[in-house]
Amino acid sequence: MSVKARPEIELLTAYRLPQTAGVKLNQNESPDDWPAELKADVLRELERLPWNRYPPVDAQPLREALAAVVGVSPGMVAATNGSNEALLALVQAFASGRTVVTTVPGYSMVPVLAVVGGARVQQVRLRQDFSLDVEAMRSAVARPDAALTVIASPNNPTGNRFDSLGIEAVLDAAAGLVVVDEAYGDFVDESFVSNVRSRPNLAVLRTFSKAFGLAGVRVGWIIGSEPVIAAVGKALPPYNLSLFAQETARAALRRPDLMSARVQRIVDERRRIEGGLRALPGVEVFPTETNFALFRTPYSAAGVFEALLHRGVLVRDVSRVPLLDRCLRVTVGTPRENDCFLDALGAALEETR
Ligand code: PMP
Repeated sequence: MSVKARPEIELLTAYRLPQTAGVKLNQNESPDDWPAELKADVLRELERLPWNRYPPVDAQPLREALAAVVGVSPGMVAATNGSNEALLALVQAFASGRTVVTTVPGYSMVPVLAVVGGARVQQVRLRQDFSLDVEAMRSAVARPDAALTVIASPNNPTGNRFDSLGIEAVLDAAAGLVVVDEAYGDFVDESFVSNVRSRPNLAVLRTFSKAFGLAGVRVGWIIGSEPVIAAVGKALPPYNLSLFAQETARAALRRPDLMSARVQRIVDERRRIEGGLRALPGVEVFPTETNFALFRTPYSAAGVFEALLHRGVLVRDVSRVPLLDRCLRVTVGTPRENDCFLDALGAALEETR
C-alpha cells in the first residue's frame, strides 16, 4: 500500500527552476558574489566557533544586531531561513485552518506556503495598472476568517510599490495580521517598519537574499509587535538558523556601505535595461522599483522565453499569471549579462515574429 500525503500536498507541484544558464536572470538574485575578503572573515570566525554545540538560541546576537538597524527591541525581531521560512511560520502561527489573503499577481510562494501550512487562500486581483484594489482588499481582510494577509511591496513579479495610504487602509480594515513583505525594500526609500510600533496587527518581512547578495546563505527576518514575534518564535523549530547563516548575516550588517553601493549599481543597470527594452518595437515595460523588470512581448511569451534560452539567457515566464498575458520577468544582472540579455531579446523577437 502506497503512503499518501495530505490531499492538498499531493495536488501541489514541487518548486523547481532551472539553476544554471550562461546568463541566469530568473530568480532576482544579486549578480555579484560576496567579496573574497569578507567571505574569509566569516570563515575565520566560523573556525574559531564550536561546531559540536547548537548555535545561539533564537539567533539572539543576530536579532540584537537586526533590532538595532531598525531601532526596535530584539523582542520585536525574528530571524529565519530566508523570508520563505518566515512566511511559513507566520501561516502556522496565525492561519492554519483559516484563510490567508494575498494579491494576484503577487509572490508565487505565498499561496503554496499557505496550503502547506494548512490554511485556505484567497487571492485578490490587482487593478489593471497593478495597483492595489483597496476596496476589494478591505472587504477580503475584514472577514473574521482572514487570519493573515500578505502584501509584497514592491511587488513580485510586477515590480511596483503600492501606495502606502492603500496599505494603511487595508491595515485599518483587517481582522487579522497583515504582513508587508519588503523583500525588495532595500531598493526603495520607504518602509513600513516604522509603523510596526503603532500597528500591533502589522509585521514586516525583510531578506538578505536580494540587495545583500546572500540568497545562498538563507536569512530573512520579521519585524513585528512582541506578541506576534513571540508567537512566530513558538512556530519556528529551535535553532532554525545555522551558525553559518547567523555569522554571515552579522558580517553583512557590519558593511552597510557595501550594500548601498550594490543597490546603486543595480538601480543604474535597471534603468539601462528599462531604456533598452523601451527601444525594442512592440515591447511594453512596466515601472519597477526592484532589481528586476517586467515586460510584455508582442508575441507568445513561451516562444520568446525559448528563443532567449536558446541563446543562453534564462528569464522567468510569468505569462500564465492573471493580468500578465505575454509577460516575462528579467532580473538585473552584471552590465555584461544585461547586454547579452538585450541583444538576445532583440534577436529572439526577430525570430519569433
Ligand atoms: N518575498 C518575495 C516578494 C520574493 O520575491 C522572494 C524571493 N523571490 C521571497 C519573499 C523569498 O526570499 P528568501 O526566502 O530568499 O528570503
